[in-house]
Amino acid sequence: MNTGMISGPADLSSEYPELIDLVAGFGGERLELGTIFKERTGFRIKALNKKKILYLKLSQPVLKTMLLPGELIRYVSMGTLVWSVEMLVSGHWASYGNFTTIILTNQRFIFLNVDTKGKPRGMLYSQLKLSALKNISSGLLGGIKLNPVSGKARQFQGVNKRDAKNLKSLIEEISAGAAGMVSTGLESPGLEHLCPYCFSPVPDQTFLCQKCGTTFRTPKQAAIRSLILPGWGDFYLQNKVVGGMKMFGMGMVYLILLGSLFAEAPGKAMEVVIPLVFILILVSGLNALATLVIAKKGLVPLQKGTGLGATSHPIN
Ligand SMILES: [Zn+2]
Repeated sequence: MNTGMISGPADLSSEYPELIDLVAGFGGERLELGTIFKERTGFRIKALNKKKILYLKLSQPVLKTMLLPGELIRYVSMGTLVWSVEMLVSGHWASYGNFTTIILTNQRFIFLNVDTKGKPRGMLYSQLKLSALKNISSGLLGGIKLNPVSGKARQFQGVNKRDAKNLKSLIEEISAGAAGMVSTGLESPGLEHLCPYCFSPVPDQTFLCQKCGTTFRTPKQAAIRSLILPGWGDFYLQNKVVGGMKMFGMGMVYLILLGSLFAEAPGKAMEVVIPLVFILILVSGLNALATLVIAKKGLVPLQKGTGLGATSHPIN
């Protein structure tokens, strides 16, 4: 049994008493504390470290099931997934659906989509195995960009500068030692989307988890909804903030349409209504196309599978 003792820098637990609970909660050696809390002094470092502890605590139920035997957490950071099309369409509001806890283990990067408080949302989980990682570079606006050997890069903004620097040097360290990096590039799958219930990878373009039977929302279904009513597709993809904003915007447009129908003389009203209807069709069409791309961000469950239980990784 874990006694709640913390191995690693001796004074960590006196500085961060909440760490004792966290370590005990994992029920075994899961945290490389010396690496995770590499930064100990400096402006706002204590607040940042406390946030890491909180985010790890909130992700603990997921991580306990997800981590493989012998897998150790080496670093934790927080960022906002950059998904260009979505940011173009929804601007600042796009970030509300893209907050991510970034976890580096001795085997992979784990990305957990979280709410504004840091709680995993049960959707949009993914991984990038270290054997599939080419390098890590600086992203847009001071974030980080994880470049796989093959496939699309994953980019995050709003990552703390020190975290970005530490993650880079950790990856360089691993590359130099080649421990765990078996970068043949041949069977490297790149970024893999994970079933949020059994955590097994689900191949791209498939919307059924072969292990547990969970089904996922498809880009096509999301796009059709967006075409009918802008915002509906976002709701379908569980992005309620953006969906609400779009529906509010459309409501305003409909009000203007109705208002002009009643306010103007019948002949004149059409001069306002016809262009507005054209704009509506155009907006809906573009929005549907955007939704098609946005939905490819990851897996959002539709119906939880019944084949759960035998699939989760037992913790020693
Ligand atoms: Zn599954």
